[in-house]
Amino acid sequence: MAGRDPIADLRRIAFLLERANEATYRVRAFRSAASALAGLPRAELAARAAAGTLTDLPGVGEVTARCVAESLAGEEPVYLRRLTATAGVDLDDATEKLRAALRGDCHTHSDWSDGGSPIEEMALAAVELGHEYLVLTDHSPRLTVARGLSPAKLRRQLEYVAALNGALPPGFRVLTGIEVDILADGSLDQEPELLAQLDVVVASVHSGLRDDRAAMTRRMLRAIENPHVDILGHPTGRKVPAARVGLTRGGDRGHRAGRTRPPSEFDAAAVFAACAAYDKAVEINSRPDRLDPPKRLLRQALEAGCRFAINSDAHAPGQLDWQRYGCERAAQCGMPADRVVNTWPADRLREWAASHG
Ligand SMILES: [Zn+2]
Ligand SMILES: [Zn+2]
Repeated sequence: MAGRDPIADLRRIAFLLERANEATYRVRAFRSAASALAGLPRAELAARAAAGTLTDLPGVGEVTARCVAESLAGEEPVYLRRLTATAGVDLDDATEKLRAALRGDCHTHSDWSDGGSPIEEMALAAVELGHEYLVLTDHSPRLTVARGLSPAKLRRQLEYVAALNGALPPGFRVLTGIEVDILADGSLDQEPELLAQLDVVVASVHSGLRDDRAAMTRRMLRAIENPHVDILGHPTGRKVPAARVGLTRGGDRGHRAGRTRPPSEFDAAAVFAACAAYDKAVEINSRPDRLDPPKRLLRQALEAGCRFAINSDAHAPGQLDWQRYGCERAAQCGMPADRVVNTWPADRLREWAASHG
């Protein structure tokens, strides 16, 4: 049969929309339709497309039905073609090289907390990007706005991931993790026994971002010294206008830029010295609305001898491709690939994380 795979086309559209930071509800139509249709025999799909009854199926609307019909007819759906035509970002050589060296992503969210997609969809998108692993780092309990996982729910997630790994393509696995809140006193928002079981722990400040310099420095140092912590997430907490994401449909994403937030104030020399001394990684958060740390601090951390993790902080599959933005900034600062912990194979990454205690 000459046709294309309509399910793959729907997922590709969703991926490109997510990568362009489109609102979740926009993307959901394509992901829902893909899930609804994935189980149907191709013959039935074709019969329904011919009879115009695809939209009778729950989760399938006019736009998605049209994409399926075009795809079945062997044409690239118009919707996909338009997205592909406007989504190209050419990476320079140094960025491309660093991006190619990444074997995984150490900061991602699923619909278990505030992400938009199931773990398996995040995993499959990571496989397609060429990753060998994905560290799942859903939020910790006190971040209720992000539906942080209680200890019981995190335990269930660990069982779920163990089972899921058996069903994923060989050579790829989901590593367990958390984005744990650094609380006001620098302690961590999850049971230590549970943190000890996880492959990778990212610790981030999400509250009290305007703490004075001395208090914030103390807080961050205490977290960095904590043996469970492996990576310091989005170090300054800043929010910037997501200008880089203006890639689709005319590129005007200004209304989605959201609120900006200045970086937290802390003694960067002390924080980076501690990261280097305790062999913890400084995250280069690639989200277009974060791009954290700023390049000045990134250079300072590089000079301090720190390791880094170039992470997407993806909340949807397409956002996994945002690592390119972090790579671009790292490359501009002259980052050697071997300083980046997610250029390592999964086993070496796990060993490094386990060495923290
Ligand atoms: Zn965060
Ligand atoms: Zn996050």
